[in-house]
Amino acid sequence: MSFRIGYGYDSHEFKAGVPLVIGGVSLEHTHGLAGHSDGDVLLHAITDALLGAVAAGDIGSFFPPSDPRWKGANSAVFLAEAMRQIALAGFRVVNVDTTMILAAPKIVPHAARLRKRVAELLNVAPGCVGIKAKTPEGTGTENAAIAHAVVLLESIQLETMLQEAEAEVDSELSVMRAGDGEGVQ
Ligand code: MG
Repeated sequence: MSFRIGYGYDSHEFKAGVPLVIGGVSLEHTHGLAGHSDGDVLLHAITDALLGAVAAGDIGSFFPPSDPRWKGANSAVFLAEAMRQIALAGFRVVNVDTTMILAAPKIVPHAARLRKRVAELLNVAPGCVGIKAKTPEGTGTENAAIAHAVVLLESIQLETMLQEAEAEVDSELSVMRAGDGEGVQ
């Protein structure tokens, strides 16, 4: 079995009057995140981490901001493409860990919801998704939300080989059982 790590980073500026979406979850707040898509900074960082782990480029190479198709897009679509790319490369997600840096809103009260939604999108258990947040504290980034993400992937080849071997044994057994049946008759 082989493993890969991936790292992703993203930032978006806060903007009044737009909905705030983080980790695929809508959060009540005075400001949302500006961006060509829904501005989901956390899903963008995770998407880049997944693509980076299999050297498949970055979110911009699949979904260029210049393309009007992605205006206001649900960022779960971007993450789904990254999941397709890692599967094509023969990998699946083991776990992901993230840290966001933003002045507000507080993420801790929403962390369980975010963890559950991100876990669904990554096809892992919520216990495999780390969601953490810090305040900017002297970085001067109060008007932005920043997200860092690291992912660990494992190869699916071994499991696939085992499943194929198991299927072969099953079919041989069923042929033998069919043969037994004939014998009884
Ligand atoms: Mg982004």
